[in-house]
Amino acid sequence: MEFIDLKSQQALIKEKINKRISAVLEHGKYIMGPEVYELEKRLSEYTKTKFCITCSSGTDALLIPLLAKGIGPGDAIITTPFTYIATAEVISLLKATPIFIDIYPTTFNLDPANIESAIVYAKQKKLTPRAIIAVDLFGLPARYRLIKKITEDNDLFLVEDAAQSFGANINNIKSGKFGDVSCTSFFPAKPLGCYGDGGAIFTDDENLAELMKSIRVHGSNGYDKYENVRVGINGRLDTIQAAILIEKLKIFNSELILREKISNYYDINISDNFAKQYIPKNYFTSRAQYSLLADSSQHRKEIMETLKKNNIPSMIYYKIPLHLQSVFKNLGYEKGSLKISENISQRIFSLPMHPYLKRKDQDVIIKLLNDLR
Ligand SMILES: *Cc1c(COP(=O)(O)O)cnc(C)c1O
Repeated sequence: MEFIDLKSQQALIKEKINKRISAVLEHGKYIMGPEVYELEKRLSEYTKTKFCITCSSGTDALLIPLLAKGIGPGDAIITTPFTYIATAEVISLLKATPIFIDIYPTTFNLDPANIESAIVYAKQKKLTPRAIIAVDLFGLPARYRLIKKITEDNDLFLVEDAAQSFGANINNIKSGKFGDVSCTSFFPAKPLGCYGDGGAIFTDDENLAELMKSIRVHGSNGYDKYENVRVGINGRLDTIQAAILIEKLKIFNSELILREKISNYYDINISDNFAKQYIPKNYFTSRAQYSLLADSSQHRKEIMETLKKNNIPSMIYYKIPLHLQSVFKNLGYEKGSLKISENISQRIFSLPMHPYLKRKDQDVIIKLLNDLR
């Protein structure tokens, strides 16, 4: 059994993908070829955003808008500690300061009730609060109705880290629409993945879109990459990856339905002794991961060992909340400062989850878990 099975999907569309790759080899436009623009058009139609800027990874999708906003030393960016390192790494790369706030124990997403005090804290430290990066953890969008109210009242830039949530929605408004910019990843294991690194940025703001396109190609003036008007990066998506994504996007909605079915089957059959991620009404998650809470880290260890003995892979996302990672030691957070994130980190684990997971494999997992209790 695989934790994420990419082979079954490939078997379904292999011929189409091969054709698309051959077409790129024929025309030879490996950098910014026509497939890149075709994909951008399809992605903005899918998310109903005005502008889509593909880029080299989910991490660069976060970095580029922060560069565009001129984030730098003295700026504070509020975010969750219960996420992948990339979310906060981009803040530190620009020499700005991440301010971590605690999460909901039920959805594992940042709790907007903690934002106001983070703003006060930033000001006490003589930092300028500039932005919030909200993460849609495991594919579940954060609570944007409340977050947006605060960003609007305080003139903060809102970034949606949608690396895990492409395809998710709230009231049928798609992930990609919730921030001033939204950033996603096409890393192979994400809900929509390519066969290498890739990412995309979404926005409805034309000026910002132009700036970000320039930054994606070394701050070029938009016509000539040898005329550079600002500091940028090499942040382009490969044409071959765009070609692959065009084919994968065609089956993506049917895969979302399969993910939903599989997670519902887990939900219904796994005993209530395991807490599940709470999905609020009118929220639809892309189910990047299916995660459960054990009672304690010891309990989790026992569960994961039992699964492993039965050849069932499981993973921990995330075992160390970012405020306690040694890379952020200089920020001065102590153990116990963000209690919910720390508690969840001790107890969470994720089960195999992908659109092609077999019912009989799910039954084995479910029985093992329920017998354990
Ligand atoms: C995967 C991920 C990223 C980074 O994406 P890459 O494509 O790997 O650079 C950023 N944030 C979150 C929440 C992620 O899960």
